[in-house]
Amino acid sequence: ASTGMIVTIGEILVEIMAETPGQGFREPLPLIGPFPSGAPAIFIDQVARLGAPAGMIACVGDDDFGRLNIERLQRDGVDVGAIRIDPDLVTGSAFVRYREDGERDFVFNIRHSASGAMRIDDAAERLLRSCRHLHVMGSSLFSDHLIEAANGAVARVRDSGGTVSFDPNVRKEILRAPGMRAALQEMLRRCDIFLPSGPELTLLTTATDEAGAIAEILALGVREIVVKRGADGASHYDRDGAHHAPAFGVAEIDPTGAGDCFGATFVTCRLMGMGAADSLRYATASGALAVGVRGPMEGASSFADLDALISSQAGDAT
Ligand code: ATP
Ligand code: MG
Repeated sequence: ASTGMIVTIGEILVEIMAETPGQGFREPLPLIGPFPSGAPAIFIDQVARLGAPAGMIACVGDDDFGRLNIERLQRDGVDVGAIRIDPDLVTGSAFVRYREDGERDFVFNIRHSASGAMRIDDAAERLLRSCRHLHVMGSSLFSDHLIEAANGAVARVRDSGGTVSFDPNVRKEILRAPGMRAALQEMLRRCDIFLPSGPELTLLTTATDEAGAIAEILALGVREIVVKRGADGASHYDRDGAHHAPAFGVAEIDPTGAGDCFGATFVTCRLMGMGAADSLRYATASGALAVGVRGPMEGASSFADLDALISSQAGDAT
């Protein structure tokens, strides 16, 4: 079944990563990059890799970091017509270093980059008119102007009968942005599918325990909640109950982008008409393949890749 056009709105950046684990960037380090990145960009690239119609509303600078991203998205089948090129601003960037404990330190240049100047222009309006499903990342809601753009896009898509998914995707470095918590809560109320990472489930609720948070969020009118649990797999909740999927056993090379690929695959499968359990299976396969490759967008998969992983581990007790 056809999904219709799936759209994301938000930041595009390059990621440059330290080659050695440790804390922060306060000494000279070997670095590798730029890699195409930005949570919404990774999400939409994964949608396109599955063969579904995909488009993105974003803004980059007139520089190689922007071109690198546009060329990758276009190559993978994303409609890049609503990615604006701002002549005066620089494409966003993130320097990332992994600590020994698996945590990450970031130096972001996003707020004052071209991503901060994203707006709903005529090309974005055209894309939204054809949009059947819109995905929003909480990480994209880092200024009043961007919150307004995202809310406007959600309203347009919902008014024309489309659906919305929302991944809070909040890092400690960005939750400090003014107005962000209120914007996340508003987005939670207006989404159909909510895709938090474990601790994010209770971040926006009055309830402080999982079961309470799930009941509270379903009562808001959210139809499906999918909790991402890293190497512990993922859980799906709706009014009919809960379903858990274990993770695939893979070596973790680079966890960045796993949640974005997971979410994109879940949403695409559901829009194709697949049931929740099958969609969850494909999504966990997509997350597993994403962590096996260095680079945030490098681990996006086709259905052939996902089917190969699923059949290779069929019968394994995970
Ligand atoms: P991020 O925001 O860093 O992209 P996330 O926190 O949103 O990630 P995770 O829970 O880390 O999301 O990963 C999403 C899914 O990918 C998990 O639910 C799981 O199915 C799969 N996954 C993640 N890490 C691993 C791993 N080490 N081994 C196997 N599967 C994994
Ligand atoms: Mg995430």
